[in-house]
Amino acid sequence: MQWAYTPSRTFPARVQRRVVQWRKACQATVTPDRPVVTFTFDDFPKSALNGADIVEKHGGRAGFYACTSMMGQRSPVMGEMFDADTLAELRARGHEVGAHTHSHVDCARARLEKVERDIGENLVALGEAGHGETVSAFAFPYGETSYAAKRWVGDVFATGRGILPGVNTGDVDRSQLRAIELGVSAWHRRRALAALKTCIETKGWLFFFTHDVGASPTSYGAPTDLIEELAVRALEDGAVLAAPTLGAVLCGVID
Ligand SMILES: [Zn+2]
Repeated sequence: MQWAYTPSRTFPARVQRRVVQWRKACQATVTPDRPVVTFTFDDFPKSALNGADIVEKHGGRAGFYACTSMMGQRSPVMGEMFDADTLAELRARGHEVGAHTHSHVDCARARLEKVERDIGENLVALGEAGHGETVSAFAFPYGETSYAAKRWVGDVFATGRGILPGVNTGDVDRSQLRAIELGVSAWHRRRALAALKTCIETKGWLFFFTHDVGASPTSYGAPTDLIEELAVRALEDGAVLAAPTLGAVLCGVID
């Protein structure tokens, strides 16, 4: 497992990212009866179960995007990663396990055949780890993708989640849904609260994403009390906490 890859920050790569975001591969319209908030955890470290505890305590379920080359490994930054027992526990508790590629491949840089093969390996590895359920949610590693990869992901999964910030309102691309990152800084908290307010006002669908969860998370993770605050506020404001595929159903994005 390559733990330290960074997507290209060159000008052409940044332009490409913008163009891909605007070109919708799978048009859908978000029309829920009530705003929907979806907490998601990428890669994912075992401490993300702390996030599951909070969302569950407030009557909802969350999404966990599993990168299978990290399964049973110890990340130098995020600590112990999920294993087959973690997947079983999440299933038993009604949370959703999503795909996140096997090798955490940059889907903007890799050829489509490589992306397809890597996601295929991801699904096979999940099956071999005892996850027999259909996997219908996907998140792009680093949020990186191409138009071709989005098309393919849209054929295979109900939803693809990116990391470009924003609330999913009105016409969206269900294979590159926007998401707000949760982190440790005051800026992260302010942005998350502002996005939640927009989600409520526009009756939209808001994804939050992070990695590890704890009282003192890493720079990739989110504090327990931030997740708690957002979950409480979302419910007070009339939102539903739903895992990705249920969220897609509630929003009318899929049947
Ligand atoms: Zn990831």
